[in-house]
Amino acid sequence: MNWNQIAAEHGTPTYVYDGDHLNQHLRELRAALHPALEVFFSLKSNPNRGVYDVLRAAGARAEVSSLAELRTVLAAGTDPGDIVFLGPGKSPAEIEACIEAGIYALVCESLPELAQIDEAAGRRGVRQRVLLRVNPAFSVKGSRLTMGGKPRQFGIDEATVLAAGPSLGEFAHADVAGVQAYLGTRILDADVVVKNTAYILDLAERIAAATGIRLDAVDIGGGLGVAYFDGEQDLDLAALTKELNPLIERFTAAHPDTRMIMESGRYLTADAGTYLMRVRYVKESMGEKFAVTDGGTHHHMAAVGIGSFVKRNFPIELLSRSAESTESWNVTGPLCTPNDTVAKGARLPSLEAGDLLGVRRSGAYGPSASPVYFLSHGHPAEVVVRHGRTYLVRRRDTVDDVLAKQSTHPDLSTHEGV
Ligand SMILES: *Cc1c(COP(=O)(O)O)cnc(C)c1O
Repeated sequence: MNWNQIAAEHGTPTYVYDGDHLNQHLRELRAALHPALEVFFSLKSNPNRGVYDVLRAAGARAEVSSLAELRTVLAAGTDPGDIVFLGPGKSPAEIEACIEAGIYALVCESLPELAQIDEAAGRRGVRQRVLLRVNPAFSVKGSRLTMGGKPRQFGIDEATVLAAGPSLGEFAHADVAGVQAYLGTRILDADVVVKNTAYILDLAERIAAATGIRLDAVDIGGGLGVAYFDGEQDLDLAALTKELNPLIERFTAAHPDTRMIMESGRYLTADAGTYLMRVRYVKESMGEKFAVTDGGTHHHMAAVGIGSFVKRNFPIELLSRSAESTESWNVTGPLCTPNDTVAKGARLPSLEAGDLLGVRRSGAYGPSASPVYFLSHGHPAEVVVRHGRTYLVRRRDTVDDVLAKQSTHPDLSTHEGV
């Protein structure tokens, strides 16, 4: 990757996605997983069309949660039969757009929503397949954000689904025909994924038995993690598939017509992304070195490290030249808050103004999950590098872009004459 050239051509700060890596990583995952398991890319983790194009070409299906994400994947030419839509607060417009597009399934998160889907499909005179998102009565420790086993706004409680019985299959237009569960994100322990999946597969069978619904699809969620911080280790894919694939094999043997779905966002994109920024100033304060860059946590909220008591750094590197990392640096951005610290006490070479730094493993939950309008800086540029060529896949916001949606009203600036 020619970082100096990318920065010269596209400026900084810029998110750089390695398209070859995206392609390779998904292909490796698909090759390792049981062939019946289809991988649906969660656009929430990275909604950029260029990133999605690469993943789709490598065989990804689409899991979307907003009209914009839905439009992205449809515009990319995705077969509607390979799209699921999920989210706890779907709007009437979202539900209608899904039905109009004829997507494979809406993943329903509440009983009132099921009634809405039924009504909306009825207005169009169609039946819409629905998977029930179930909030399981159980959770396995080991996910960074556990979903199951506690009160949640997501899904319908397992007990509620089981108690609903055959009524779930009796909607005229909402064709309840499958089960989805998502039990957490950033799971690094293969055993946790395996236990989650075993539970979900068993749950799907229990739900089918209690309600009489068909199992057109079982969506086992995902949440496969990547290591970000010191002391963490990447998920062991071989260890995962060794235990997971036999579970899938057993299930598909018993249910040969059931589509098996796995959702994945972070695992597919995180490692392919680098947040590229340029050092503007170097300075010292009370014995500590600071590199003040043109990038910051308004583009990379995850680097703030909310939720952990001690700040932990994303992997960060000097990319514009090679030099040995012998010093300790605080890497900060342009925001007027001490929280705008991308890395604290990171091992880096002696830095100078003009150096390019890259925050690695930044391809998931980057700008779209960050407060890009803080201090009105706007969204950074994004590029995809594929087969040795660099493609701008989102231009950076200009000041005009950032200000365009504000309106002025003369009355607001009328002098009151105090
Ligand atoms: C966020 C989310 C995903 C993607 O999670 P990752 O940890 O990025 O793989 C998948 N499914 C659901 C329901 C989600 O909310």
